[in-house]
Amino acid sequence: MSFLKKLFGGAALDGSKLAASTDKAEMAQIELLAHFATPNALHSDGDQTRWSRILPQPYAETIKLFEKQGWLQMSGGKYQATASAQPFVEQYRKRQAADKSAVLPKVRKALQGKDTSEALELRRAYESRQPLGIADWTGPEPQLSHSALTRRILFMQHWLLDGLSKESVEWLKLYAAEQHLWGANWKLKPEEIPDSVQTELAGSGLPVSEAAYWKAYQMALYVDNHETWQRCKGGDHVRRIEIKALQTENLCPACAALNGKDFLVARTPELPLKECTCPQGCLLRYEPVLESYETAN
Ligand SMILES: [Zn+2]
Repeated sequence: MSFLKKLFGGAALDGSKLAASTDKAEMAQIELLAHFATPNALHSDGDQTRWSRILPQPYAETIKLFEKQGWLQMSGGKYQATASAQPFVEQYRKRQAADKSAVLPKVRKALQGKDTSEALELRRAYESRQPLGIADWTGPEPQLSHSALTRRILFMQHWLLDGLSKESVEWLKLYAAEQHLWGANWKLKPEEIPDSVQTELAGSGLPVSEAAYWKAYQMALYVDNHETWQRCKGGDHVRRIEIKALQTENLCPACAALNGKDFLVARTPELPLKECTCPQGCLLRYEPVLESYETAN
């Protein structure tokens, strides 16, 4: 297809073919169209540049092309996919959802086998199949140490797990590791949570989905906090650590007393706080205090 033909019409796009393609430039066009499934403004300049790198033609050209195809229309400064474009968006979304439901059990299986490197490989391969190299539901680009940290969850021994049966501990570790691996958090339906976990977490006073979610959340948070502390202790650049609450509403007195305070690394209180009485458990996080060159000297 010539440049002129592309620009001045005649280039009828095959939406169904693009939505089913494994070619990223082709997929990207429907992914972009899906962004306008509900009325939306154009992307920021920076994002348009990122899109332009993967689309077959620059971002602005693609928008024009979509309008010419009758796939996109503008009203009130916003763009929206037309009724004739919606089936391609639907087709693309279904295909993306199928890809997600195919990879999740594979990652779970790798984690069950304690192979966190394999699990991270699966995540990376999944994300690299996405047109922009990222999925809309996963966390930020994982650090090099990511799979090693996920692994620590699978082997953690901590008072957070006191009073739980071996079976429940194993299940919670898998749940926490899975979420940590993906950098995403999700709640489960009660029927997806084993009876032992339901019974053993009943004392928390939270509905079972919440109780399991926050217990797993705390386990991953413990591993991340511990890593932050070790990194600060071993480095020369950070002298102080700040303690920050995930959310500031309804903090127990112990958490409220520490939230927002910073400490010399060696004197930083250990998290989670044993005396915490927050309903979801202690959700305090360490944040290295980055000092400017002047104040650090
Ligand atoms: Zn608390």
